Amino acid sequence: MEPLKTEKLDLRRFLKDEISCVDFEFNRDVSGLDDDFENGTAFIKGSVVNHGGYFELSANTEVKATALCARCYKAFPFEFCFQTVQPVTDKLEDEDTEDYLFIKEGFLVLDDFFESCIILEKPTKLLCRDDCAGLCSKCGADLNNGDCGCVHKEIDPRLEKLKDFFK
Ligand SMILES: [Zn+2]
Ligand SMILES: [Zn+2]
Repeated sequence: MEPLKTEKLDLRRFLKDEISCVDFEFNRDVSGLDDDFENGTAFIKGSVVNHGGYFELSANTEVKATALCARCYKAFPFEFCFQTVQPVTDKLEDEDTEDYLFIKEGFLVLDDFFESCIILEKPTKLLCRDDCAGLCSKCGADLNNGDCGCVHKEIDPRLEKLKDFFK
């Protein structure tokens, strides 16, 4: 069966036991989803499978974004992907349990769920490269382009006073 191209899955036939697997795929715009992303898209592909009465969602998410470097604030292309496995239920007694995704009136809404997955799975610090030198704290120059000439050593205030004394 063709995957459903939607983030709102119709699982009515699945719940009636007519089918035991529903495939889905959809894209989500991740612009502004997190301060680190300037713009980008998540490509989400997965399925909900009935394993003898136990429902499970599994999916693969690929994010392609323009991110801002945490050190030099330059925009750079950033990609990451991750797997998700999550139990799913339509039983009311499990509705408020965080362990389950809840099927409401035969439908499973996925965008909020994947939004939080993307935020959780995203590396906390996005760097344009592992050894990004960042910006000079004094003049703001991009230190990746070479030394700006500022003195970065903190001068001991007591020595500073001595300097005045010798003037
Ligand atoms: Zn950087
Ligand atoms: Zn500087």
